[in-house]
Amino acid sequence: MKPPADQDVAGRIRQRIEVQGPIAVAEYMAMANAHYYAHHDVIGVAGDFTTAPEISQMFGELIGIWLADLWVRAGRPARVHYVELGPGRGTLARDALRAMAGAGLCPQAELVETSARMRSRQAEAVPDARWHDQLATLPDDGPLLVVANEFFDALPVRQFDSSGRELRVTWEGGRFVREGVVHQESSPESLDIVRVLAQRLVAQGGAALIVDYGHSRPGTGDTLQAVSRHVYADPWQEPGGRDLTAHVDFHALATAARSAGAIVHGPVPQGAWLEAMGIRVRAAALAKASQERAEEIAAARGRLTDADQMGRLFKVLALTAPGWPDPAGFR
Ligand code: SAH
Repeated sequence: MKPPADQDVAGRIRQRIEVQGPIAVAEYMAMANAHYYAHHDVIGVAGDFTTAPEISQMFGELIGIWLADLWVRAGRPARVHYVELGPGRGTLARDALRAMAGAGLCPQAELVETSARMRSRQAEAVPDARWHDQLATLPDDGPLLVVANEFFDALPVRQFDSSGRELRVTWEGGRFVREGVVHQESSPESLDIVRVLAQRLVAQGGAALIVDYGHSRPGTGDTLQAVSRHVYADPWQEPGGRDLTAHVDFHALATAARSAGAIVHGPVPQGAWLEAMGIRVRAAALAKASQERAEEIAAARGRLTDADQMGRLFKVLALTAPGWPDPAGFR
């Protein structure tokens, strides 16, 4: 069922175009997604798309183990914070925090989330969490253990044609139309966030794990896409009613983090990282504990790691504070 408010956001975008002329693709994407995440139950079988933590608990658990291992080798600092950007349904946080607790690490959860609807979902999974609209209000008194899964792909991209002109969206013949041909994309908002994150790590210690779909080398062309009910859809129809994402430029993220002083590891393909983190062993242990689920567990491992599923397109990038140990999974 489509919330009636979806028509409002399309109307608001049209109105803005009528008042100020064609708007930047990034502005269209930002308005559409803010509405989308505020009004739809987007993630999961009944939603529009499924993410790695919703496929299997193994994903969040291995991330928790990765963080706990770093924390142990960093000398078990007493005051640390678990930070997650765009935590969705809170499943990853819940699984990671449980795995960390098994290693004696029980940090306060600090969740950066702009959608009130998503926050209430997250509160069901992680009742003791605290919420933030942006990184600026995160605690500044101890190392940060940061996770962002499928967060950066949802941030607005600017698009440029081959002469460097920024592409705009207009309303024409009863529909939204992008003017011109895309040659380059960039996401200044993503770069700002990574820069601030890296500065925080340098100042406070800690590490960040960024997982997303995208390219490791700077790419060209149009990667903006829409997904609705698990199938690709037209990004220029029903803004606010479907998920708009773009490929994450890992090269650009790494460069921004490095120039802010963080140590960069990867990116490596998600499949290789999960294998290095021991997903095989974890899957075998889970299957042994509940044999009736053995097939389902094997299938989930395949979805997360196989090259033709999420194993290759999805990548893992880590940032660490100078002086922190080398993270597992990147050799
Ligand atoms: N990490 C989750 C969900 C990814 S969907 C998972 O793996 O399942 C993207 C999430 O980012 C949603 O929770 C959305 O509400 C949130 N989000 C999108 N833009 C944001 C922004 N600018 N600041 C904070 N959260 C944002």
